[in-house]
Amino acid sequence: MFDLIVVGGGPVGLYTAKLCEDLGHKVVVLEEHGKVGEPLQCSGLISRNIERFFPEVREWNVIENEVNSAVLHSPKSELVLKKKNAAYVIDRSKFDKKLSEMVRSKIMLNCRVRSVAVKKDCVEVNTNKGVFESEMLAGCDGANSVVAKGLCVKPRETIKGLIGTVNKKDRSEIVDMYFDKDRLRDGFFWKIPRGKKLEYGVLGGDVKFENLEKFFGLKRYEKFAGLIPIGSVKKSYFDRILLIGN
Ligand SMILES: Cc1cc2nc3c(=O)[nH]c(=O)nc-3n(C[C@H](O)[C@H](O)[C@H](O)COP(=O)(O)OP(=O)(O)OC[C@H]3O[C@@H](n4cnc5c(N)ncnc54)[C@H](O)[C@@H]3O)c2cc1C
Repeated sequence: MFDLIVVGGGPVGLYTAKLCEDLGHKVVVLEEHGKVGEPLQCSGLISRNIERFFPEVREWNVIENEVNSAVLHSPKSELVLKKKNAAYVIDRSKFDKKLSEMVRSKIMLNCRVRSVAVKKDCVEVNTNKGVFESEMLAGCDGANSVVAKGLCVKPRETIKGLIGTVNKKDRSEIVDMYFDKDRLRDGFFWKIPRGKKLEYGVLGGDVKFENLEKFFGLKRYEKFAGLIPIGSVKKSYFDRILLIGN
């Protein structure tokens, strides 16, 4: 029996596992995919405050670029926001892998959690690799959380995020964001310089890769996609279970 089962080996699950094992708890991470950090579902634009959590992050070889401005474009005007040393553009797959290397507990890959049941003395976790038991459980399983569903936490609205990258060097320090409600009613487009690559993206309720292709005139590019939950859950703590992260 474990002290803590962490469902989901994303950044939040891995960090939760690390904090708890450092406190001496017996932890296991259950991750449905075969590799940590894959498939990629994130642009990796993060505040430099990340260094407060991981002072050694610059040595991890995950930072692809550094940005200091955002230009918000609307059909009629532009707003330039500048902040020195504002953000890093990181390779999220590599970042998650680095995090997983810091976790000493077992990370069970290809282990999909199907359901979770709170028993009198433990939490019982049903997976494709058998049943696991623990004192506590951390549901860090992202936008479509099985743990949250099992707790009847009202499903939140999710929006789609689509990314297209092209092999074009771009070391500029500016992130562009485009808002145009005639072309996309409930979302926005973006362009992120990733150093060796240039990323185009779109986020919205019912976006498709065609939106991206049309807006930026994209033809050949690498595709990535993911879901983003909107808002937070009303309650994130339950008997023996916490919901953390996305
Ligand atoms: C297109 C896109 C671009 C984004 N860009 C940015 C950005 O630039 N900056 C930023 O800060 N954020 C960005 N985000 C948001 C960011 O990706 C999330 O906030 C972050 O990944 C949340 O981390 P998490 O660990 O909570 O969840 P996740 O990263 O979603 O991790 C959840 C993990 O749980 C696993 N899992 C799910 N269900 C199960 C199950 N039943 N059993 C076992 N394992 C399971 C998944 O495989 C996954 O590994 C973006 C999101 C998208 C979709």
